[in-house]
Amino acid sequence: MTVYLPQNRSQSPSPSLETLLDEIVLHGEDKLLEQDIARWREDLQKRLEQLDQHPEQGLGFIEEHVRQAALQLQRLIVQKAMQDKANQTDEKCPDCQGSLSHKKRRVPRWVDAYCGKVKLLRTHGWCLHCEQWIFPADRVLGLRQDSTASPLVQEMCALLVSKMPAEQAEALCLRLTGRSLSRSTLAREAQRQGEDAITVRQRLVEAPVHLPPASKTKAARVGGQPPEPFTLVIQIDAWNIRERDHWGQTAKMRRRQQKVERWHWVYTATCFRLNHRVTKGRFKTKLRAIITERSYVATRSGVEPLMKQLYFEARARGLAQAQRVLVIADGAVWIWNLVEDRFKDAIQRLDLYHANTYLWAVANEMQGAGSPEARRWVKPLLKQIRNDQVANVITQLAELKPQLAAAATKAADKAIEYYQNNQKRMKYKQARQRKEPVGSGAIESTCRQLQCRMKRCGQFWSTRGDEALLCLEMFWRNERWELLFPHAKLTAVSNN
Ligand SMILES: [Zn+2]
Repeated sequence: MTVYLPQNRSQSPSPSLETLLDEIVLHGEDKLLEQDIARWREDLQKRLEQLDQHPEQGLGFIEEHVRQAALQLQRLIVQKAMQDKANQTDEKCPDCQGSLSHKKRRVPRWVDAYCGKVKLLRTHGWCLHCEQWIFPADRVLGLRQDSTASPLVQEMCALLVSKMPAEQAEALCLRLTGRSLSRSTLAREAQRQGEDAITVRQRLVEAPVHLPPASKTKAARVGGQPPEPFTLVIQIDAWNIRERDHWGQTAKMRRRQQKVERWHWVYTATCFRLNHRVTKGRFKTKLRAIITERSYVATRSGVEPLMKQLYFEARARGLAQAQRVLVIADGAVWIWNLVEDRFKDAIQRLDLYHANTYLWAVANEMQGAGSPEARRWVKPLLKQIRNDQVANVITQLAELKPQLAAAATKAADKAIEYYQNNQKRMKYKQARQRKEPVGSGAIESTCRQLQCRMKRCGQFWSTRGDEALLCLEMFWRNERWELLFPHAKLTAVSNN
């Protein structure tokens, strides 16, 4: 039996809740359900009467009462529909379609569904070919052997814990769903889902690219409009996360004078088409850039996985068709080496904000941090940077050096070196003409958001743990959640 509970009658006239309930009551082996429905009606009736006695209780109370009264009934419907599905499942090995031997029927298990615990009876057998014990119905229903969580609960755990610490998720889950899940259950389940997500991502990223045959694209062009030329913008950055790698070993390691690594890089990137970046705001001086469609990458697994994932996302955003590819990042050498390697023809741009900070460092050393003199000194130089006169700035800094104190000389040396290394990436005039971003703000705000989740006081991660949660978050942001939780397609949006 397939169950689709209609969100509202006008959208899907059949099967209605009544027919479903009738079916359960009339044809079910479980005659108790009839009594359960009667009990639900009685309970609801009592709750509604109680509402009448409390004129001060508004719609919130009505909603809460109806919801709570219905939860038990929902649990019974879920249990019945699940059992029907299990009964219809072929008693074959889902991997090789071979028949099972040593079959045992009606083996019980409990499942944690969104509405409470439900009991399932299903067949169990040995596949000679695959040499494994199998519960075919568990597979069809999407149940795991290592967890009691139903698919909806699996999703709830993944969603909540990728967005907030498990202790917060615990309270939120109870309030929103009326379902009590402990923080350790939430964390453990999210971890399992994250590890599955890593496997799915691996498959996606490593799949061969399916480009349409040339003849087909040509034909399409003759008939339809040629694709509008566009610029693909890529931004890359990294931040660090604290891990507890050598659990219980650190004191020993320190005694042996071994280095204890705690902080590790999380590599992040984003890509979007320039025409999906729009500016909003009422005043020209206070415009904010908003990107309407974009892709994200975040991984703790290293630079090479970052590049593979970024390449995949860039392809999905039309890398092959892009007229221009623009990479914006700070001066980190690893980034530009990788860009030379993977996005050879891309235009490279140094984040203007980072470029400016080097001049500010000199100004603050020379004139006092934050002083009006520092501002006065730095202003014309910043203007030169904006106008692609970085060579002039380098000359001026070099000429100034003999008159500077030690700390200011050091800052000037750093600035000179930074500008020399990045000179070819400092074409900001061109950026303004083309209405392109001059900074990597889009990726920096993403990093900030991820850090809000993953760099809280007292938080320590394991490499396995942080990668799993980052992976879940990227599936969510990249709108591929349904690849992990296919039932999420049924999201009901009701605005009437
Ligand atoms: Zn098999």
